[in-house]
Amino acid sequence: MLNIILFGPPGAGKGTQAIKLSEKYGLVHISTGDLLRAEVKAETELGKAAKSLMDKGILVSDEIVTGMIDSKISKSLSGKGFIFDGFPRTLPQAESLDNILSKYSLAITITLALEVEEEELYKRISLRGKISGRVDDQDRNTFLKRMQVYNAETSPLKSFYKNKGILVLLNGAGSIEDIFNSLSREIDKKL
Ligand code: AMP
Repeated sequence: MLNIILFGPPGAGKGTQAIKLSEKYGLVHISTGDLLRAEVKAETELGKAAKSLMDKGILVSDEIVTGMIDSKISKSLSGKGFIFDGFPRTLPQAESLDNILSKYSLAITITLALEVEEEELYKRISLRGKISGRVDDQDRNTFLKRMQVYNAETSPLKSFYKNKGILVLLNGAGSIEDIFNSLSREIDKKL
């Protein structure tokens, strides 16, 4: 199986690229943000609890997201693999992901980290906010909060994957096609 983590700050293009890559390589795309937004839309108890945190740019608890991931993985074990988008975001989540995968004798093949300047991220997020209507994309302070959370809790995971020898850093500035091609080149090396 080919199991990819698409890593990067908010607005780096993870969602867009994950959709394209899942189509190209036949992978199951798992976005914890999308799963949570579906819960919010369906007004489930989980969705109600998550909404106010998400709107403020604060992370939902590790237990909630790892539970969702485990259930998604267990349903697609006969596929070609997974592409994780927006997960893991904390060290406990990264450790849980390893544990969940190893339960099924699986492991992460590669972590692809997109790097983009903060001002460019803000431009992309505010543009997306106009189209998607996402509350967390429409306010500069919420963007700054999300960057703070990313820098404090998520960015350190790069060392976690670097130590495992599976981290690849990529420039996430440029056209969608150019970035897609550089991501594909790195994945092809693993096939
Ligand atoms: P995203 O669509 O990935 O930008 O996620 C939107 C929001 O959902 C985040 O700001 C968090 O509030 C929540 N969220 C998504 N993924 C996670 C995760 N792995 N851990 C905790 N919270 C998450």
